[in-house]
Amino acid sequence: MRGMKYLLMISVLLILLAFALTTLAFRKDDGEQEAATETVSVTTVPTETEIEPEEEEDINADNKWAMFLVNKQNPLPDNYDSVIETELVYEGDRNGYVDKRAAKYAKDMFAAALEDGIDLWVVSSYRTIQYQQDNFDRSVQQRMDNGMTYDDAYADTLREVAMPGESEHNAGLAMDIMSVEYTSMDDAGFENTKAFAWLDEHAAEYGFILRYPKDKESITEIIYEPWHYRFVGVYYAKEIKESGLCLEEYFAERGWTDEDGKAIKMRGPFDEEEEQPAETKVTEPTEPKKTMPAVERNEQNVTIIV
Ligand SMILES: [Zn+2]
Repeated sequence: MRGMKYLLMISVLLILLAFALTTLAFRKDDGEQEAATETVSVTTVPTETEIEPEEEEDINADNKWAMFLVNKQNPLPDNYDSVIETELVYEGDRNGYVDKRAAKYAKDMFAAALEDGIDLWVVSSYRTIQYQQDNFDRSVQQRMDNGMTYDDAYADTLREVAMPGESEHNAGLAMDIMSVEYTSMDDAGFENTKAFAWLDEHAAEYGFILRYPKDKESITEIIYEPWHYRFVGVYYAKEIKESGLCLEEYFAERGWTDEDGKAIKMRGPFDEEEEQPAETKVTEPTEPKKTMPAVERNEQNVTIIV
C-alpha cells in the first residue's frame, strides 16, 4: 500500500511538473508570438525603402533649375552676375567655379575620374557677364586701333567672342575640360584622349553633357568642342545622351522652344518672372541687348569661343 501511495504522489508530482512545463512553454510561445508581431509590425512600417526612390526623384526634380538654354536666342538676364552664387570646384592654374548647386556633381566627377587614373584639367569655367563684356569691348577696341570701323570691329569680334550673357560660362553651368594629354583648343584633337573617352562614358552620370557635338554645328551655331561640358542635371543628361540630340534639338522636340528657338518652357532664370502677371516682364531682360550696335550677322557659321 505504501508503494501505491508513493506511486500516486510521484504521478501527481509528474502531472504538476508536466502542467508547469506546458504553461511555461505556452508563455514562451506567447513571448515569441509577441516578438513576431513586433517584427511584423516593424516590417510593415519601414516605408523607408519606398521613400528612397521618391528621394531620387526629388534630386532629379531639383536639377530642373539647370535645364535651360543659354545661346543667341536665349541670353541670360543682365543682372545674372548679382543673382548667381558660385562655388570653387577645381583648384589649378586657374581656379574653376560653377553654380553652387552643380558644385557637388562637378567635384564628384573629378574625384571619380581621378580614381580611374584620369586627371581632368579645367581650362575655363564660370565667367561673369561683366568679364565677358570687358573681353568683348577690348577685342572691339583692339580691332579699331588696327584701323577697322566700329561696325567691322564688332562683327569681327563676334567670330571669336561670345556676346555677354550668351555664353553658358556666364551661367556657371559650363566647364571647358581637358587633360595633360592634349591642351589645344585650336582643333578637336582632345577627342582622341583617354580623358575624352572617360568623359564621353561618364559625364552624364554626373549631370554633364557634351554640349557642342561634332555633327550639330549647324544647329548649335558653335564649332565642335570636345572640351565643353554643360550641367543639366543627371536625369536630363542621361536622357539627352541617349537621345543623341543636342540641347537645342531636345528643347524643340519637347515643344519647349518656339520656331525661333526661344524658350517658352524650362526658361531657367526667367521662370519666376513668367509667374508674374505682367506680360512685358518676360521679354524685358533681353531688351538691353538691343542697345548694343546692330550689326548684320550674315556669317551663318560664326565661330564663337564659348
Ligand atoms: Zn566652353
